[in-house]
Amino acid sequence: MASSQLASRADAGRLRVLLVSDIHTNVDRVTQLNDWLHEHNELVDVILLAGDIANMHDGDYDVPERETAFEGDMSTVIGALENICTSVYYIPGNHDPRTTFERNPLPKLTSFSTNIHRRVVRISRDLVFAGYGGSVPSFQNGQVLWSGYPHATDDVVREPLQRLLTLGNDDSGIQHSDSVILMTHFGPDGIDTTLDRSDPLAPVHTGSKSLTAVLRNSPLNIPLHIHGHTHNSPGRVTIGKTIVFNPGSLTESRFALLTLERSLNLHRWVLSSSTFLDLP
Ligand SMILES: [Zn+2]
Repeated sequence: MASSQLASRADAGRLRVLLVSDIHTNVDRVTQLNDWLHEHNELVDVILLAGDIANMHDGDYDVPERETAFEGDMSTVIGALENICTSVYYIPGNHDPRTTFERNPLPKLTSFSTNIHRRVVRISRDLVFAGYGGSVPSFQNGQVLWSGYPHATDDVVREPLQRLLTLGNDDSGIQHSDSVILMTHFGPDGIDTTLDRSDPLAPVHTGSKSLTAVLRNSPLNIPLHIHGHTHNSPGRVTIGKTIVFNPGSLTESRFALLTLERSLNLHRWVLSSSTFLDLP
């Protein structure tokens, strides 16, 4: 459930959204971001955080005491974001502990944040947020370059994504009249924001074909889909009626500010402004 302040802002029909991703435990960047927002008189109503909050690597995964330590890192990062705004919605990425995907109930990392992995949360009478974390395998020259975590293949995410984005099911209660803001860590396959061109001769495909298919075939009204994971490919592209948005990595000083507004003509929420920004 949204905080009463966020709910009343949403009821009024306009939300200022701070979009950040791939912080990788870099709390200093969050502090710099807070300073930047103060200097620029930017007040945000909600923060969306698209995963890779901690910085787990090989050898850390599935070691219980390390997972606990990385949960602590996530709490520190999210706590720093709560100094900016007390409504924080996040999903875990492939550098975050498995407990934040699987433990039931999911660990409560801070007072004001909500993990929306495989969940839908209602923000207003006609607005919900839906989330799905982790990564799928990435390919370079047709070979797996980075394995997926915790999703071993692209195929395994299709059914849960379909279930997440279903009208009126018991889990979500998404209604026809709802606008769905979808946030995933990995993005859709086949678009610029998931293509890592660090090596221009051998780009890395980080996206999910399952996600592309689910988005294209969804009966839902999804005006905005946010993803992270692909640090070097911030940008926005359109799939059907959905704007897909990658803010880039806050570790590399990138973030975005968005305005969502209820359009009374269109009977849906629309992205009325978006700005990609860099910390100085
Ligand atoms: Zn990632």
